[in-house]
Amino acid sequence: MDGDADSDGRAAAIARAVFLDRDGVINRVVMRLGRPESPRAMSEFAFEPGVAAAVERLKAAGLRLFVVSNQPDLARGKLAPETVAAMTGAIMRALPIDAVRVCPHDDRDDCGCRKPRPGMLVELAREYGVVLGDSFMIGDSWKDMAAGRAAGCATIMLERDYNCGAAADYRRPTLADAAALIVSIMDGGR
Ligand SMILES: [Mg+2]
Ligand SMILES: [Zn+2]
Repeated sequence: MDGDADSDGRAAAIARAVFLDRDGVINRVVMRLGRPESPRAMSEFAFEPGVAAAVERLKAAGLRLFVVSNQPDLARGKLAPETVAAMTGAIMRALPIDAVRVCPHDDRDDCGCRKPRPGMLVELAREYGVVLGDSFMIGDSWKDMAAGRAAGCATIMLERDYNCGAAADYRRPTLADAAALIVSIMDGGR
């Protein structure tokens, strides 16, 4: 069908995606009592260095890009929904991200969207026609890796001193390195 041609005139490829965790991947974590936590105010929200170039590279490779974030401080009353919305707005303005999804729940809510469960990835894949088995999850915690694996994605851990030892298909020091890995895998015709 003519309608399947994209702007380059090629037949539209089956959609592949990169699912990106937010805190520690897109923006810096805030260390509280030695633990990596989410920013709770816009004054604490700062992009990780190099994130724009890395995300642009993935976009240029033809990937759908989604941010999938646990924000249990919403359920705990430590974080206002308006603040999360403002952070989502900042991400969408700065980066070519297709959608940002947030799980507002805590463990006791037993929801399907809180990572390590794969609900956010599965729902986005259904909405956007993404093939999860050809897609990637990038994160900085075991919950990201477990959610990506449960969804059927290849998983890439950004190495931090707080995530040593967690299982992942690949480990890379920075988002730029993770983007380079994904591009090389795609060039290999995987
Ligand atoms: Mg994180
Ligand atoms: Zn949830």
